[in-house]
Amino acid sequence: MANKIPRVPVREQDPKVRATNFEEVCYGYNAEEAQLEATRCLNCKNPRCVAACPVSVKIPHFIAQVAAGNFAAAASVIAEDSSLPAICGRVCPQETQCEGSCILGVKGEPVAIGKLERFVADWSRENGGVKPEIAPANGHKIAVIGSGPAGLACASDLAKLGYDVTVFEALHRPGGVLEYGIPEFRLPKDRVVAAEIESVKALGVKIETNVIAGRTVTIDSLLDEEGFAAVFVGSGAGLPKFMGIPGENLNGVFSANEFLTRNNLMKAYRDDYMTPIHAGKKVVVVGGGNVAMDAARTALRLGAETTIVYRRTETELPARREEVHHAKEEGIQFAMLTNPVEIVGDEKGWVKAVRCIRMELGEPDESGRRSPVAVPGSEFEIETETVIMSLGTSPNPLIAKTTSGLETNRRGCLVADENGATTREGVFAGGDAVTGAATVILAMGAGRKAAAAIDEYVKSKSL
Ligand SMILES: Cc1cc2nc3c(=O)[nH]c(=O)nc-3n(C[C@H](O)[C@H](O)[C@H](O)COP(=O)(O)OP(=O)(O)OC[C@H]3O[C@@H](n4cnc5c(N)ncnc54)[C@H](O)[C@@H]3O)c2cc1C
Ligand code: SF4
Repeated sequence: MANKIPRVPVREQDPKVRATNFEEVCYGYNAEEAQLEATRCLNCKNPRCVAACPVSVKIPHFIAQVAAGNFAAAASVIAEDSSLPAICGRVCPQETQCEGSCILGVKGEPVAIGKLERFVADWSRENGGVKPEIAPANGHKIAVIGSGPAGLACASDLAKLGYDVTVFEALHRPGGVLEYGIPEFRLPKDRVVAAEIESVKALGVKIETNVIAGRTVTIDSLLDEEGFAAVFVGSGAGLPKFMGIPGENLNGVFSANEFLTRNNLMKAYRDDYMTPIHAGKKVVVVGGGNVAMDAARTALRLGAETTIVYRRTETELPARREEVHHAKEEGIQFAMLTNPVEIVGDEKGWVKAVRCIRMELGEPDESGRRSPVAVPGSEFEIETETVIMSLGTSPNPLIAKTTSGLETNRRGCLVADENGATTREGVFAGGDAVTGAATVILAMGAGRKAAAAIDEYVKSKSL
């Protein structure tokens, strides 16, 4: 029986070798492995995996095509619902979404849906890609602010519906967190991110980089003066949080966003770039999410002995299990039940240590997780040259401040309904700008929903 076949393991770079380079960790399946894994799918009549996918990819349909060796047909099935499959196949938290709901997971290992999606997307890219249908031009211009997954998904759907879409991006390269946040060793930039963005451009989407909405242009001017029928805001949540402890202004303290941006976008790790970064011999990363894992694994690859400091235990770590496993394999150290209280500097203003306090777990807090409580008198120091704060992010207030009628909630997120309509007519929003820091696929799902709502809005105005 198909489900008696064990899940096909995926090949990865040796941990000792990959800890010293920025090449991709996971090699993915080859055609033979993908076909074998695809035969495990039961092609369920009511597929729970599809219900758990935020963009409802027709999972059993594409997997059936993989099993039959029809890889181009598999790519066409995925393209109906996802414009960034090689990215999603690599970074989506499948274990809590499609694979987390796969029926085979009840008694054994779920189908490796993410790895199959990745295989199909890579195969398709190397073999000419999918040529989607594009409706004739309808004469309406739509502006998209931000070129992360929310903006790209929204722009793709609108372009397919015949809209004239322009994406305005503040940075010099498009992609949002895919480009500046997630490291090369998890998500290759030229081979995967740039290639998928090219396929969005092939739909007719124009991307203007180095344009800051709220400075270079305003949403009001786009709507009132430049003839755009609607605006989608997918500006993300790029504003880092700090702890507010003494010493956070010392040289050698970074936010994870800055540290990762310098490496990913400005290629600090490459000798042929003039924008290096000093990580030093020892690095402490504060936090326990995916971003903390990425920052720690980047620091390790720059040659630093790296420790993650987290105030709860491993059970509560919010990062994906796969990322924690990879970090451990590569030699990242974890100081659990530990919280910084001060960053200690030398006489020249550079970091030399982090003073921490031991924690223990008390009663559950509002998140349901047991809250960490400091153990009095347990302070100690960890010697380090660099401290990277990875405590979460919130949306930048610039757009809300410079657009009339756009409301935000108390967390600084744009207020929008389930279809992305904001409090300002003609302005829609989605992704991290609305939810706060979340995931690539949720951002894409929000972008797609907003595209459908924008289509309805523009049509209703044209009647
Ligand atoms: C280091 C890191 C690792 C992550 N790892 C994962 C992972 O493994 N899996 C996963 O699912 N999610 C992961 N995430 C989260 C995920 O990347 C985000 O949830 C997702 O990218 C949000 O998409 P978005 O389009 O809403 O915003 P973003 O990707 O943040 O894109 C927003 C874009 O808008 C631009 N912008 C902002 N303000 C303006 C302005 N005023 N004018 C013009 N442009 C503007 C920004 O420059 C940016 O390019 C990670 C996040 C980080 C930071
Ligand atoms: S739930 Fe699992 S077995 Fe069923 S269709 Fe989805 S991937 Fe296949």
